[in-house]
Amino acid sequence: MNLQYVQGEPIFTKTNKVPKQYEYLTENIETDVIIVGGGVTGSILGYYFSKANIKSVILEKNRIGYCSTGVTTSLLQYELDDNLNDLMEATTKNNVIRSYELGLKALNEIDNIINQYGNKCDYRRKDTLLYTSKKLEINEIYEEYRIRKENGFDVDFIDETSNPFSFDLKAGVYSNNGGAQFDSYKYTHELIDISLKKGVRIYENTEVTAVNYENSGVLAYTTYGYKVKGKIIIVATGYNTGLFSKRNFGTKTTTFNLATKPVSDFSGWYKRALIRDNNSPYNYYRTTEDNRIIIGGEDIRFVPDIFNEKAAKDKYDILEQRLKFMFNDIKGIEVEYKYCGAFASTKDNLGFIGKDPDNHKLWYCLGYGANGILFSMLGGRMLSDLYLGKYNEDLKLFQVDRFDN
Ligand SMILES: Cc1cc2nc3c(=O)[nH]c(=O)nc-3n(C[C@H](O)[C@H](O)[C@H](O)COP(=O)(O)OP(=O)(O)OC[C@H]3O[C@@H](n4cnc5c(N)ncnc54)[C@H](O)[C@@H]3O)c2cc1C
Repeated sequence: MNLQYVQGEPIFTKTNKVPKQYEYLTENIETDVIIVGGGVTGSILGYYFSKANIKSVILEKNRIGYCSTGVTTSLLQYELDDNLNDLMEATTKNNVIRSYELGLKALNEIDNIINQYGNKCDYRRKDTLLYTSKKLEINEIYEEYRIRKENGFDVDFIDETSNPFSFDLKAGVYSNNGGAQFDSYKYTHELIDISLKKGVRIYENTEVTAVNYENSGVLAYTTYGYKVKGKIIIVATGYNTGLFSKRNFGTKTTTFNLATKPVSDFSGWYKRALIRDNNSPYNYYRTTEDNRIIIGGEDIRFVPDIFNEKAAKDKYDILEQRLKFMFNDIKGIEVEYKYCGAFASTKDNLGFIGKDPDNHKLWYCLGYGANGILFSMLGGRMLSDLYLGKYNEDLKLFQVDRFDN
């Protein structure tokens, strides 16, 4: 199953039981919206479309939540992969500030879902830290802090003298309530459960193998020959888009994660904030509700169909050493899970949400970049509105053809 996209033993799919299995498609059916992909994005779309009383069907070729969704670190942060000033070649300051605001909006939407339906996915709102341990980067981090502060974000600047963390930090932007964490596998199932009650139909082990666009709508062909007829089709297939478009949607890397066994204390880890360093590629750190640590990063170029075991082992070793060095006050750090997966980034760090410019029956919700999950949340809201005829100006930020000449 998608072996080239996910490798190893991911914490979320290893520690959780499969809460529910779904049938595969055994008849021809009709709907309004065909959602292809049963990862976190497909589940988010199902949630928003069913909330808006739009008939939809989710088709997943393998198991729900077992592709990128099963390996994501699930740091949910409003900030982007790069600092604002570094993005100026690809976009504008206003666009970056707007996407920070949208990130916060998406976090608040998750808060609302959890408040309404209960916390079944270990969701927790968090402070976040972006930091550097290099003197040379102090000004860069200060500038990022200054711009965010000036634009109304709740941030503090940390330097060596005010550093509440135990590790070496020369400068940091500390965002109060700027992020959240959850178990993406559980969240996906929670949303699907809610959506099913509102009328979404879902089929596992049902691959879309071909799509025909007709005047009256879209016909998706699936394994075993059954067809789904809809008015539009939405691609929520993560980094696997070749069946639907020849577009090159982003630069793919493989990114690596380790999850430890539960530790007994978090000495030196202020408020168990979400942490990211300013390196390129960067490392990121979070904790879990059962007191584990997840560290990720060490990205390398993604090569389809080839898994380099030696490179993966080297990367896992580097991550383990880094974790132990960084948090040397935390005793008994023992790695339990090692895994990696494909990841795609774009020049402006944003995903792709909206209609195909040449085919208005083909829509995309692709959560690329480090904020993939938050972008999918925005996509769910904006695309269900769009289906009902309400165009949201923020869709321009995520437009599919924005890099076309
Ligand atoms: C190691 C790692 C760490 C990450 N960390 C973060 C993070 O901290 N925060 C964050 O926001 N994002 C993070 N990401 C990105 C995040 O994982 C993605 O944004 C998110 O999981 C994408 O979910 P998805 O549902 O779009 O894709 P997927 O989970 O990949 O789901 C797509 C689904 O589509 C199915 N599919 C594909 N083709 C077909 C077809 N033809 N027919 C039917 N089904 C099909 C696949 O089987 C798959 O289940 C990380 C990614 C990786 C790899």
